[in-house]
Amino acid sequence: MRSSKPCFASLATGPMSEAVTFRTPAGPAVLRRSDRSTLAISVEPDGTLHLIAPLDSTEADIVGKVGRRLRWIVRQRTTFADMNRNRMPLCYESGATHRYLGRQYRLKIRRAEPTGVRLVGAYFQITTKTGTPQEAETALNVWVRGKAVEQFTARLAKWESWCAARKLPAPRVRLLRMPKRWGSSHRDGRIYLNPDLVKAPSICVDYVIAHEVCHLKHPQHDRAFFKLLDQTVPNWHVIKARLEQLQ
Ligand SMILES: [Zn+2]
Repeated sequence: MRSSKPCFASLATGPMSEAVTFRTPAGPAVLRRSDRSTLAISVEPDGTLHLIAPLDSTEADIVGKVGRRLRWIVRQRTTFADMNRNRMPLCYESGATHRYLGRQYRLKIRRAEPTGVRLVGAYFQITTKTGTPQEAETALNVWVRGKAVEQFTARLAKWESWCAARKLPAPRVRLLRMPKRWGSSHRDGRIYLNPDLVKAPSICVDYVIAHEVCHLKHPQHDRAFFKLLDQTVPNWHVIKARLEQLQ
């Protein structure tokens, strides 16, 4: 029986050539080749350009395609540079910002009863017994897990008929905190999702769910899997890049 399959940490695995440095109009890139039909272009948070090219594409093909994505690449690098400047460890004091479904909210922490977390306007209103950052952190984590279950369950429900039509088991959500991945799946229909995914924009949440549901049909990151993913979420490369900025 197949164990639950790790996923995002190894998104680009599969038979792949050694990485080589390759000159492009956007500067040097890390180029690998694999058995895929289109050129995958991604920009890492440090600005490095990564390319995965079909085995039979020529260097001129690759240069041409990168040239046509130049504006997108520049935009990605600018976004990452901005985010790196703004990146700070999570703080649980009044005024600190935290995300939910891609939007930023400020914490307003008070000592009061009843304790709990409410999303009001642009604020997370957190009431705790002592008002300490530790209590606020615990309260917010409980709230995030609750919202994660609610959001993931509702979004996954939309896949039930899709799965039934393909004779796949009905997908079921399980929360699992995974240090380096957003999701993984088991062929019996269990979809493990990182509760922190609920902090990402809706489009990213839906992409991770689609990715994991596609694994119910094709467990490996093989050609059949990516073909199905391309059909299901045609712009998944762009969404994945957006999600990686959040890590
Ligand atoms: Zn995967």
